[in-house]
Amino acid sequence: MEKVLHFIDGTFCESHDGRTFDNFNPATGEKIGVVAEGGKAEIDQAVAAARRAFKTWGKTSAAERAAIMHRIADLIEENLDELALLETTDTGKPLTLAKSLDIPRSAYNFRFFADFVKGMSTEAFEMEGVALNYALRRPVGVAGLISPWNLPLFLLTWKVAPCLAAGDTCVIKPAELTPMTATKLAEICQKAGVPNGVVNVVHGFGPDAAGSALTEHPDVDLISLTGETTTGKAVMKSAASSLKRLSLELGGKNPNIVFADCDLEDALTTTIRSSFVNQGEVCLCGSRIYVERPLYDRFVAGLVEKTAQLVVGDPLDPNTNVGALISFEHLERVEGFVRRAVEQGGRILIGGKRPEHLKHGAFFEPTIIGDVDSSCEITRQEVFGPVVTIQPFDTEEEVIAIANDTNYGLGATIWTSNLKRAHRVAAEIEAGVIWVNTWFLRDLRTPFGGMKQSGIGREGGVHSFEFFSELKNVCIKL
Ligand code: NAD
Repeated sequence: MEKVLHFIDGTFCESHDGRTFDNFNPATGEKIGVVAEGGKAEIDQAVAAARRAFKTWGKTSAAERAAIMHRIADLIEENLDELALLETTDTGKPLTLAKSLDIPRSAYNFRFFADFVKGMSTEAFEMEGVALNYALRRPVGVAGLISPWNLPLFLLTWKVAPCLAAGDTCVIKPAELTPMTATKLAEICQKAGVPNGVVNVVHGFGPDAAGSALTEHPDVDLISLTGETTTGKAVMKSAASSLKRLSLELGGKNPNIVFADCDLEDALTTTIRSSFVNQGEVCLCGSRIYVERPLYDRFVAGLVEKTAQLVVGDPLDPNTNVGALISFEHLERVEGFVRRAVEQGGRILIGGKRPEHLKHGAFFEPTIIGDVDSSCEITRQEVFGPVVTIQPFDTEEEVIAIANDTNYGLGATIWTSNLKRAHRVAAEIEAGVIWVNTWFLRDLRTPFGGMKQSGIGREGGVHSFEFFSELKNVCIKL
């Protein structure tokens, strides 16, 4: 049985009081290990180590840091099978997905930021005959990196890589439900030559525990959180005491808008993915589908037919499309949303229950709900599971208004072959990431982040460096 330890100042360790919590495989319900449960004492120790290490790591050259980061990427790739299995065991996601998406992207996050930092520039302004101004980019200090359970290593490395590239050190607080790949990453960092104290991992819970100890810590300069909107609000409050810089990537309730002139097959195939990949546990999943009325019946029929073909089952089986949800607690939460949607007049077009033959794990059938409107809870709250709603619309103005009638503003997808309409609608939708005739296609140089209550700040390319570094201006009198 796996024992998952903290990694503090280059040492794998238990909590000072020996406290642990249990870790379960949601696909089998079995206990798979115990995890060291950290709190304020371990966070204090890790932050002190990160602060000491910053003195030297912050002064290394970009080329030195990039070389180490490429070694981390190499080691992630060499350990792909093991990392993918750990991720699947922790999350319940299909192993094929962990192998094709989570782990390769984790390696690529390091390669991308390693290469990017070497090409970073700053700005210069000449006051002709008077002075020359130029900006220097410097690391900030110690970053607290708090990650969620849905794409554990993928989203954690999306933070660690720019943090290290910029010259900062970090204390990682992984999601308590998915601790395993974070400790494995620590092992990899050590093998790759990351000096002691530069990367630290403290396991534990969020509120009144390791998470809040990190966000409150006076010696932490930056907090990057990916999690729920309610968590973002709590973190913002506790980070205020020492005015920490914040990057918040939060929840979404993303519209998927299908115009009648779209390529139907392409829209259907991608909508299946954007609805149900990773069991719908992706912040960018398009959980509100709006279809222009002339296409509505055909689209619904096609979507239901393709949904029926999805294989829900053992995450280790290569034929599985949809694995287990993260936990039985989350399964009950998802069931509650579906039950209340039906009570509010929603009609289940397919799915809506636990599969009969999979009661031992936290499985739920891919579910489509019709006959809802913007007043129903299911169209307003983030379910974060394999559940989507579908509604017809008549005009462009109408669908823009419904799509924007939400507190969230993370992503949106538009399906149309009318180029002018694509530009018009993309400009009007209140979301940070808009896809036209595609979904989840990412160039890591582009800005990523949410509007409204989906977050604060942008990640990706130079935007990640804006967060993880300081710019200071030098003015030289001529
Ligand atoms: P969560 O908010 O419950 O937990 C995220 C992390 O925050 C965990 O490590 C948790 O322990 C920690 N945490 C919780 N409360 C805390 C507190 N008070 N102080 C400090 N840390 C605290 O989120 P989750 O359930 O792990 O992940 C699902 C959520 O994440 C969904 O809402 C999803 O949309 C969102 N998400 C957003 C993005 C994005 O890029 N915008 C990406 C993935 C997931």
